[in-house]
Amino acid sequence: MIHFVGAGPGAADLITLRGKKLLEEADMIIYAGSLVNPELLSFAKENCEIHDSAKLTLEEVLVFMKEAHDKGQTVVRLHTGDPSIYGAIREQMDALMELQIPFDTTPGVSSFLAAAASLNLEYTLPGVSQTVILTRMEGKTKVPEQESFDLLARAGGTEVFFLSAGDLKTLSEKLIRAGKDEKTPCALVYKASWEDEKKFLCDLKTLPEEAEKEGIKNFALVIVGDALKGARYERSKLYSPEFTTAFRKGT
Ligand code: SAH
Repeated sequence: MIHFVGAGPGAADLITLRGKKLLEEADMIIYAGSLVNPELLSFAKENCEIHDSAKLTLEEVLVFMKEAHDKGQTVVRLHTGDPSIYGAIREQMDALMELQIPFDTTPGVSSFLAAAASLNLEYTLPGVSQTVILTRMEGKTKVPEQESFDLLARAGGTEVFFLSAGDLKTLSEKLIRAGKDEKTPCALVYKASWEDEKKFLCDLKTLPEEAEKEGIKNFALVIVGDALKGARYERSKLYSPEFTTAFRKGT
C-alpha cells in the first residue's frame, strides 16, 4: 500500500495526526527533500528505509514503491503542504494503477494556509474578496492560455502565487501591464511556519525591490489583493446579531 501524505508547510507539528501515524508505521518513506522538513523523519520507526525524492526520477521512485509493495510493505510518499497542489502526484498515481498497486491520500496543511496564518489574514474578507486564486507564473511548466495574466488581473479576489518567487520583477510587471493597480497590496511569505520564516507587506510595484532587500528568491509565496489591507470590510453575516442561522435566531 502506498500512502500519499501531506507533510504540511514546514513546522513538524503541522502534519495531521493521521499523517504522523502513517509515518510511524511506514516501512519506507519517500520524501520531497527540497521542501519537506527533515524533522518529520524522526517519526519513522527504526528500520524504516528512507529516500529523498529530490535526487530521484519518477521512474526511480516507482521502482522503490514497487519493491516495497512486492515485499508486502507500506510506503509513505511524503509531499510538502498538501499533495494536491503542485505535488506531481497524478503521474505517480497513474503509474501505480497500471502496476495495480493500491494507494490513498492523506491531506496536509498547504503553505498558502500557513502563510495566511502567519499574516493573521482572512483571504475571504466580506465586501473585499470572496475568491482565492491559487496559481503560478509560467516556468518550465506552461500555464494554460485561458489562465493568462490578463484574466488573472481582471479576476479580482485574492491571488496566491506558488513557484514564482524566482522572478518577482516579471510577476509584478506582468500583473501591472495586465491592468492591476500598482498599489495593490502584496505580501511575500518565505518558509511559512519554519523557524527561519520571513514575511513582509508591500505593494505590487515595490514587491521585487523589497524581496531583493530581504534576499528572498525561492521557497516563498506571493499574495496579492485588497484582503491584505484588512480595511473597509463588512462584518460577517454569520456572526451578526440580526442574522438567523440554523443554530441561532437573529434579532
Ligand atoms: N504542495 C505544496 C506546494 C508545492 S509547490 C503546498 O501545498 O504548499 C512548491 C512551492 O510552494 C514553493 O516554490 C513555494 O512557492 C511554495 N511553498 C511551499 N512551502 C512553503 C512554505 N512553507 N512557505 C512559503 N512557500 C512555500
